[in-house]
Amino acid sequence: MKKKILIPLLLIWILTSCTKDATPVTTNQKDSNTTEVDTSVIKKETSLTVSERCIWCWKCIRIAPENFKLNVETYKAEVISQNNINSTKIDNAIRSCPVKAISREEI
Ligand code: SF4
Repeated sequence: MKKKILIPLLLIWILTSCTKDATPVTTNQKDSNTTEVDTSVIKKETSLTVSERCIWCWKCIRIAPENFKLNVETYKAEVISQNNINSTKIDNAIRSCPVKAISREEI
């Protein structure tokens, strides 16, 4: 009679002790081999452009001649170099343009 009660109790104890340490796997868990990319760290490229609004006033060329030149065929300023376009000099050139023809955009 004691055996009939002890065996099921023993089985229950074994089963509960085995499942205690098992951690449930959820669908939200990420694979440890997956590499996440932090997009805020990626440096975006910027590009300097002159639009059709240019009135050929020379201001940008005087401020940053290494980046701008006059195009005698189109009578517009044009960008000749994208070097140092985040510099203060380019900031000043953009600010001094009377028709806001110069833009520096992330691409
Ligand atoms: S400052 Fe503006 S309007 Fe003047 S040349 Fe440069 S882009 Fe053209």
